[in-house]
Amino acid sequence: MKKLFVTLLPLLIVAIVLYVIFKPNPMDKSMTYNSNEKSGDCLILVNKSNTLPNDYIPKNLIMPNVKFASCASNEEKMMQGEAAKALEELFKSASKEKINLYGLSAYRSYETQKQVYDKRVKTVGKKQADKYVAQPGASEHQTGLAIDVTNGDGAKDKLKVDFGQTKEGKWLKSNAQNLGFIMRYPMEKENITGYSYESWHIRYVGADVAKKIYNKHMVLEEYLKNK
Ligand SMILES: [Zn+2]
Repeated sequence: MKKLFVTLLPLLIVAIVLYVIFKPNPMDKSMTYNSNEKSGDCLILVNKSNTLPNDYIPKNLIMPNVKFASCASNEEKMMQGEAAKALEELFKSASKEKINLYGLSAYRSYETQKQVYDKRVKTVGKKQADKYVAQPGASEHQTGLAIDVTNGDGAKDKLKVDFGQTKEGKWLKSNAQNLGFIMRYPMEKENITGYSYESWHIRYVGADVAKKIYNKHMVLEEYLKNK
C-alpha cells in the first residue's frame, strides 16, 4: 500500500499543479468572454443583451488600405486583420464594377462609443438615440469586425437619401456576402437585432457564414441560435 502511495504521489502533485495553472478565473471578465468566442472569433455576438466589457480591445487591429471619408478618425479606420483584408477585397471588387465605396467608421473603443452615445442623447433624447446608437459595450464597432460604409456623396457629408437607395448601397446589399460581410441590421428584423434598419452597417463573419445568412434571409442572432 505504501509503495502504491509513493508511486502515485508525484502524479497527484503534477495533477494539482496543472489544475492550479489552468484553472479558469471566474473574476476575469475578458476570459469569460473568450469562452464565448470559441465558436470562431469572427462570430462574436454583440447586441443590447450581449455586451462587451469596457476593457475589451480586439487583437490585430490594422488599417485597411481603402478610401475613407475625411471625417473618419484614425481609430475609426481600424479593423481586425482578417476583416480588414476582406474589406479591401470587397471595395476592390466594387470598383471593378465602377462602384466607389468609402469607409466611414469601423472600430470604436468603449470610450469613443460612450462619447458618440452621450452626444446623441443630448441632441435627440435617450429614446430616439437608443434606436440607432448603441450604448457603450453594446456596439459591435468595438469588435473591430463592423464598418459603416458610404459613397462619394456620403464621404463629403452630402448624401441626401438613404444609402440603401443609392447604386452603391444596392450593390453592397447584393454582394457583401461574397467577401464575408452581412448586412447586420436589415429592415423588418428590428425586433430581433434591437436596432433600426441600417443600410450602411456591415459586419464581417467570414464568407461561408455570410452566404448562409444571406441565402436564408437571417440575421446573426438567428444564425447563432439555429447553428
Ligand atoms: Zn455601424
